[in-house]
Amino acid sequence: MTTTIDTTDTITDAAAITHIIPDYSLTEFTRRVTNANARAARAGITATIGMTHQPHPDTIETDHHTGVRYVRHWIEVTLTTPVLQLGSWTLIAELDIIETGALMRTHGNGFELLRNWPRPDPQLCQHCNTRRNRNRNYVLRNNDTGEIAQIGSTCVEAFTGITVNPTAMRMLHADDMFDEFDDQDPHAGGQPDYPMRDILALAWTASDSGRAYVSRALADSTGRHTTGEQVRQLLIDDSPVSRVLISTAHRIPAATIDAILADIETTVTDDSEYGYNLRLIAAAEFVTTRNIALLVSAVAVHLRAESQRAASGPALHEWIAEKGDKITDVDAVVTGVRKRPSNFRSDAITTYLTLRSVDGHIIVWKASKELDLAIGQSCRITAATVKETAIERGEHRTIITRAKIAPN
Ligand SMILES: [Zn+2]
Repeated sequence: MTTTIDTTDTITDAAAITHIIPDYSLTEFTRRVTNANARAARAGITATIGMTHQPHPDTIETDHHTGVRYVRHWIEVTLTTPVLQLGSWTLIAELDIIETGALMRTHGNGFELLRNWPRPDPQLCQHCNTRRNRNRNYVLRNNDTGEIAQIGSTCVEAFTGITVNPTAMRMLHADDMFDEFDDQDPHAGGQPDYPMRDILALAWTASDSGRAYVSRALADSTGRHTTGEQVRQLLIDDSPVSRVLISTAHRIPAATIDAILADIETTVTDDSEYGYNLRLIAAAEFVTTRNIALLVSAVAVHLRAESQRAASGPALHEWIAEKGDKITDVDAVVTGVRKRPSNFRSDAITTYLTLRSVDGHIIVWKASKELDLAIGQSCRITAATVKETAIERGEHRTIITRAKIAPN
C-alpha cells in the first residue's frame, strides 16, 4: 500500500481557527507551521495548513507582582486546516470524547451531514466493532454512497485501504499548536481535568459576575483576552491576583452555577455544532483545558437570558423624551451591564448600562465610571439629560448623560 492521500481545497469557514498571540511568538509560530507543511510534503501530502496574520491592537497590562504597567503587542493568526480525502472517504469530523459523549469538530459541511446521524457509542469503532477507551474518534463519509462510519484512529488505514501518514492526521489538529502559545501551560502533555462547576465559578468571578465578560468578538475588536483565556491563565498563574480570584470563586453560591446551567438547558439548542458541544460539556463533571473556552461561553448565554427576563416583554417604539430634555424620577430595571476598561487607562472603567423603564422605554447610559448594578436590579433614574435619540437594531433607544441612578 502506498501513501496516496489526495486532498481537496482547504476550508476557510468552519475549520478556520483564529487566535491572538504575543507578537514575539510569531517567528516561532510560523516556523512550526512551515515545518508541519514540510513534513506533510515529504510524506507526499499536497495539502497545507494555511496561515495568515494581521496586527492586533496593543493592550496595557499590569504586572501582577509589581503593579507596574506595560504595553503588550499582539498578532492575530488564522489557520485553515485541510479536508482529508482517504480514498473514497472524506474525513468529515473528529470526535473529542468526554464523559458525557463526544464533542464534534466538523469539517466543511460535516455538521449538516451528521445532523440525522444515529450516533453510535462514542468509544465504538465501527470497523472492528470494538469499544475502547479512546480520546478521539474519526467520522468518515463515503463520497459515492454517503455512508457514514465512526472509526478509531488505529483502524482508519484498514477501513479506507489508504495508508494514513500520521503527519496528515496531525494537520487536522492544527489548533493544538496554539495551546502551548496561549498558556505556556506547565501541564501541557498531561492535560488536567478541572471540575466543570469550578471553571464556571471562576469564569463568573473573573468576569465580575458577567459584567466584564469578554467574548471572542470583543477580544478581536479590542485586543483584550477572552474570559476563557483569562480563566486558563488563572489556572496556571501563581500570582496574588489569581489566588484572590480563585478563592473568591470558591464562594460563588451553587445556585448561581445552577442558574447558568439551567439557561443552557432551556435556551441552547443542539442544532448547531456550538450548541451541541456546549450542551454536552455543561453536562460533564470535568473539563480539560482545551474545552474551557467552550464552557466559559455559557456565561454569555446566561447574561442573554437574564437580560431577556429583566426586560420582560417588548419595548415601546418611542423615546422617553427628546434630545436635550431632562428626565427625572424614572423607575426602571437594569437589562444590561457591561464594564470595560477605558482605552489606554487600565485603571479607569466605563460602564455601559441598559435600562428598561417600567412603562417600556429603552434607556442607555455610557457612564465613565464603575457602577455597581446587576441585570434584573430595580432602580430609579433620579435625574438625567437626553444626549441623543437613536434607532438601533429596530429599537428606539434614548441615550442619556449626566445621570444619577439610585438602586430601589
Ligand atoms: Zn477499530
